[in-house]
Order: sequence, then structure tokens, then C-alpha cells
Amino acid sequence: MAAHMTPDEFRAYGHQVVDWVADYWATLEQRPVLPSDPPGTVAGKLPARAPVAGEGVDAILKDLDEVVLPGVTHWQHPGFFAYFPANTSGPSVLGDLVSSGLGVQGMLWATSPAATEVETVVLDWLVGLLGLPERFLSTGAGGGVIQDSASSATLVATLAALHRASGGEWRSAGVRRRFTAYTSTQGHSSIEKAARIAGIGDGQVRAVETDEACAMRPEALRAALAADVAAGCVPAIVVATIGTTSTTAVDPLPAIAEICREYGVWLHVDAAYAGSAAVCPELRWSHAGVEFADSYCFDPHKWLLTGFDCDAFWVADRAELVQALTVLPEYLRNAASDSGAVLDYRDWQVPLGRRFRALKLWFVLRWYGEEGLRAHIRSGVAAAQWFAERVRADERFEVVAPHPFSLVCFRLRSDDGDGADEQNAALLARANASGAAYLTHTRVHGRYALRLAVGSPRTEERHVAAAWELIAGLAGEPG
Ligand SMILES: *Cc1c(COP(=O)(O)O)cnc(C)c1O
Repeated sequence: MAAHMTPDEFRAYGHQVVDWVADYWATLEQRPVLPSDPPGTVAGKLPARAPVAGEGVDAILKDLDEVVLPGVTHWQHPGFFAYFPANTSGPSVLGDLVSSGLGVQGMLWATSPAATEVETVVLDWLVGLLGLPERFLSTGAGGGVIQDSASSATLVATLAALHRASGGEWRSAGVRRRFTAYTSTQGHSSIEKAARIAGIGDGQVRAVETDEACAMRPEALRAALAADVAAGCVPAIVVATIGTTSTTAVDPLPAIAEICREYGVWLHVDAAYAGSAAVCPELRWSHAGVEFADSYCFDPHKWLLTGFDCDAFWVADRAELVQALTVLPEYLRNAASDSGAVLDYRDWQVPLGRRFRALKLWFVLRWYGEEGLRAHIRSGVAAAQWFAERVRADERFEVVAPHPFSLVCFRLRSDDGDGADEQNAALLARANASGAAYLTHTRVHGRYALRLAVGSPRTEERHVAAAWELIAGLAGEPG
């Protein structure tokens, strides 16, 4: 057992594990979406030490079933409506398996040319597929790269913005001035985290007011920028959101971009969840103004059938990003890099090393094609619209925010403020305890609301209908 796994052993066990995953997917619906055991249950069933002698795959698979699976939240379950979806799919898993098998490090073009070139081409494909601006194409001054997450995309955008705002000084001298960053009150927490890591400080992130629809008010952004400049601060970055995490609000990019241009400040657009919607031409209104962005990102790992981790990030001017992040030790020098004819993605991200993540995206884009991806997005949007109509038709409930994509925010109506919040929280807890569906919550204009996000490839209309029956039924019962 202590020996390395031979290719033949791998073949046999590999088939077994693929069968395991296929069986898991095929029987998912029969499981409760959420585990119910108390904290420490999984850890308590695992030995305190790693084994001294190696063990067989059969023993590992047995514990997978008996110890691990009972503690798993089933994100691929058709009744998973929590947070945002984190899709995966057959082609994504197969692409990832190949990437794992190859085990290459794509930090430089020279360390595995195909890892870089497939990634560049696939990100150029996505520009066309999503109708993104041509300035993001690698064939011009821009280019795309895969980051692990939208949080990392925001961080590297912040670093490039600091490089620009400091006139190049930040790279060697660090944060010497009082830089500021801007997002709406609905901006993702990763923006504050990026400001903290970059040394700007999260106290220098301005939370710009939003309107009734939870979208950024451009005039409030302008006022914040003017006040900071008057106070001697240096505005470095504005992060606008297409599809906020709480309610999928869309910030007015054209007006925001105009203000960014006036102040010479970097505009990053975070479309982590809703970016996938742009594969459908009828949803591209949400991306109006993206042609003015200095950088943009979305997560194929949320709604585009590609397993975590996969964030697609583009810049309009790759030179600024590369200048901000490049460090070249002697041991990484090579003729290809010196020639300037290749992209070295280590200069586009925080870590040096990187997996061949483009493979899973390549498998997904080829398996589904534009048509398949559009059908997937449309089915999610249609299911959410259907659900919102049911909510609206039931006078006990109200929809509390616009729902242009596949997320619906809703709640039980009541005149009793705090009491209503408690009632809605209790409804959510009881719906989730059923095991058939899993929803999460947010606050909209200060009030508790339930969120139903559709996106699993296994979710059909009947599952959304069942979720509505469940919720409507529970609402009719005394708590
Ligand atoms: C989910 C989300 C993020 C964070 O995504 P990760 O890829 O997990 O870092 C950032 N911004 C928005 C708007 C999101 O919805």
C-alpha cells in the first residue's frame, strides 16, 4: 500500500470514483439539502492522527460515504436556492480531472505554453460570448486571466489602481498618501478586504449611498470624490457592481464611468454572479457602460456551470497590471519572457504558481456551446420570474427588490416591523428544516427578507414550484 499508485490502479480506482460522483449526482434529490448534525460530528468520527501504514481506496471510499457525506451541504442539489449558485457540471469536472492529471504549473508561458495559450484564447472567446468590449481582448492592449475568485480580482484591480494613482511610486515606496476607494453600500465585502490588504485601509473605503432599487447614486459618488479630494486624499479606485450580492442591483455604469473619467480614477466592475447573464443578448442591458471599465470580472463558478474556483478577470490595459505586480528573480528568467512575445500570467495575480484552470472552462464552453449556456441562464431566469409571480399573487407576501436575473428577494408582509422580521426568520428556518429546499436571507432597506436564487443545472420548474408550495404552506400554519 505504501507504494505509488500505478497507472493501472489509477484507472481502476478512477472508474470507481467517477461512478461514485455519477451516483451522487443521480441520487442527490433524495438527500436533505442541509446536514443536521451538530458541530464537531464529522471531526469526531475521524482519527486524531494520519495513518502510519497506507490504506486502500476502498477504505477511503467507505469513510467518504459514512463520515464525510452526512456532513456535506449539497450545493448541487436541485433544491439549493441559498446564497448564489456555485454550479459545477460534468464537462467541468472532466476538465478539472485532466488538469489535475497533468499537474502543470502555468506561472510562466515557458513553464507550460498550452496552459497560458488555452487560457488566453478561452478568455478571448468569453469576450465574444458575453458581448464584452473589444478592448479586453488579448489581441489588443488588454487581456483576460483566470483568478481563483472575484475577491482576488478585486484585489489585483486595487493594486493596479494604486500603481496608477501613485504615478508608479506605490510599487517601491508603498502607500505614502491617503488613498481612497469607493463602492456602494451594497458593494461586496471583498472590496474592504482588498483595501485592507493593499494598505489603503478599510476606513478609506467610502460606502456610497444607493437608491430605491439598491443601485449606486452617481451624484453621491461625485460628492464623496469631491469631498475627499478637497481633504487631500487621492481617489484610487471605484468598484461598481452588476448584480449586487444582496439583491442583484445593477449600478448605473455609464454615469459612474463619466465621473471616474473626470477624476482620473480606476473603474473596476464586479459582476461576480450576474456576469454570466451576458451570454444572453436580452440581458446585456445590465452591462451597458462596461466599455468604460478599466477592469471587469465575473465568476463562471457561480452561474456558468464551471466548478469553483474560476473567476474571469479582464483589464483594458494589461501593461498597468503587469507593471504593478511583476517581480523577476533570476531563476525565472527565460528567453520567451525576455522576447516580450508571450504572456506570463504570474504577473497578473498574487501567487506565483497556477493550475491549468482554463481546461475546465474550455471543456464547458465546448460541451454546452453558446446555445447550451444561454438555455441554462434562461431557465434560471424564467424559474425566478415564475416564483416572483407566485409571491406577488399571494397577498400575504411581497417581492422587495427588482429581480432581473435569477434571484428573488421576498417576505411576509406585516405592519409590525421587528415582529415581521422575526416571523420571516422563523419561516426561513422552518423551510430549511424541511430538507427539501435551502434558502438564505438578507436585509433590504433595513428589513429582513428571504432570498431564493436559482442556478443549479439540476433545478427544474417542479423544484421551484415545490419550494413555493413549501413556503406558502408554512406561511399558512401557525409558527
Ligand atoms: C460572490 C460575490 C463576490 C465574491 O466572490 P468570490 O469569487 O467567492 O470571491 C464578489 N462580488 C460579488 C458581487 C459577489 O456576488
